[in-house]
Amino acid sequence: MRKINHFIGGQNQIGTSGRVHNVFDPSSGLVQAEVDLASLDEVNEVVTVAQEAALLWKESSLTQRTQIMFTFREILSARANELAKIVSKEHGKVISDAFGEVARGIENVEFACGIGQHLKGEINEQVSAGIEVYSLRQPLGVVAGITPFNFPAMVPCWMFATAIASGNAFICKPSERDPSASMLIAEWFKEAGLPDGVFNVLNGDKVAVDGLIDHPGISAISFVGSTPIARYVYERGTQAGKRVQALGGAKNHMLVLPDADIEMAADAAVSAAYGSAGERCMAISAVVAVGSAADEIVEAIASRIPNVKIGPGDAPDSEMGPLITAEHRDKVAAYVTRARDAGALVVADGADRDLPEAGFFYGPTLLDQVTRDMECYRDEIFGPVLSVVRVATFQEAIELINSNPYGNGTAIFTRDGGAARKFQHEVEVGMVGINVPIPVPVAYHSFGGWKASLFGDAHMYGPDGVRFFTRAKVVTARWPDPGTSSVDLGFPRN
Ligand code: NAD
Repeated sequence: MRKINHFIGGQNQIGTSGRVHNVFDPSSGLVQAEVDLASLDEVNEVVTVAQEAALLWKESSLTQRTQIMFTFREILSARANELAKIVSKEHGKVISDAFGEVARGIENVEFACGIGQHLKGEINEQVSAGIEVYSLRQPLGVVAGITPFNFPAMVPCWMFATAIASGNAFICKPSERDPSASMLIAEWFKEAGLPDGVFNVLNGDKVAVDGLIDHPGISAISFVGSTPIARYVYERGTQAGKRVQALGGAKNHMLVLPDADIEMAADAAVSAAYGSAGERCMAISAVVAVGSAADEIVEAIASRIPNVKIGPGDAPDSEMGPLITAEHRDKVAAYVTRARDAGALVVADGADRDLPEAGFFYGPTLLDQVTRDMECYRDEIFGPVLSVVRVATFQEAIELINSNPYGNGTAIFTRDGGAARKFQHEVEVGMVGINVPIPVPVAYHSFGGWKASLFGDAHMYGPDGVRFFTRAKVVTARWPDPGTSSVDLGFPRN
């Protein structure tokens, strides 16, 4: 059995807790590895190592950090296929999708290659006679990233690229369900010249997460995962005096107006709902169809579903792989059963598909006549289940989306620029697509939802990422002529 350990201080380190977690190959349903789960002693150890590394790393020059990031970027790009294969093998997503995830992760590393530009401070000359004021940003020290299973390569890149380039030491706590991508990244970073202890991987579960949150040696926690755990991490972390950004779950709506290009909207809905088997925080899980668009879009989506090729992640013609675990597949199936019982019209049921016998597969599912009180609409199912909610007017559609507790992503499909402008202005969601179904911002804009999709003030990566992983210092400086000095006990005036 393959063992996955920790990566601490530039070394692979075998766990000592005696606790392990099975890592499955979701395409075959077989256990392929065991990952160590850290104890509190191991949390203490990794923080000590990272603290020592952080002291040296913050003194490294911007040129040194930038050069290491460039070298790391070259390694990542040259070996993107290798990383994508590991992601696909442990997550189950198809190789092309895993490759796309790696490519988006590399964009964050590229952003970090320009860190000198992003860390530029500001200066005012002559705020008072002979006095300058300037602000600069400095690293926090040791920061931790806790990541979900669904993007085991990209989401760590969202965090560590900016954190490390800004001069922090980073501890990554990946999902225990697919931890190998982080381990590979750690090895490659070392090869790129990153000093030992600046990037560490601590594998684990709640014990490791709680230990990192509570440890006084950690200054900031960046979290991505489900909403209940995001809320918990945010509350516990801020109570411990830490800076926390905690991104949670989602229910992403795609609004289709009657004037939309229905064929294009249907292509987009199928891609965004069933890609990665719906296990994306930006997946479309609800189509809100206005008026006459409803019958047309349901028919167009339904006609595409039989053509979605389901199969193992590493099969070249697979378009959709399995779900992450058998329990999750069963949970998704149970949602569909209860949706039918609640009165939803099951246009396509993934259970009826000819699915591979082994592995955790569930086919694309389309539910029509879904209403806002139904569980399948309210909950984040995180599987290949798309609900269609029919509404009479555009205003009703916006009101529906705005009354949803989540606010991660949304999209509108229309040919009407005025409608798109109104939607963009009024919708209470953090990331908006206009005829774009999965509007994940590029690395030089920040990523983040609103409401129950994000706890904290800072969005992830991009400019917000730089602010999150650094703190501001403002210097007021005077280099007077020696002859001009005198005692003045009054409050400084300008
Ligand atoms: P999860 O919340 O179960 O796990 C996320 C991380 O928290 C993992 O590292 C896990 O080990 C840890 N964790 C789990 N239970 C914990 C507990 N009780 N106490 C402390 N730590 C705990 O999420 P997941 O199932 O791995 O990922 C899927 C979820 O992540 C979905 O809800 C999805 O929408 C969300 N997600 C959100 C975004 C976003 O940007 N908003 C991006 C990707 C995924």
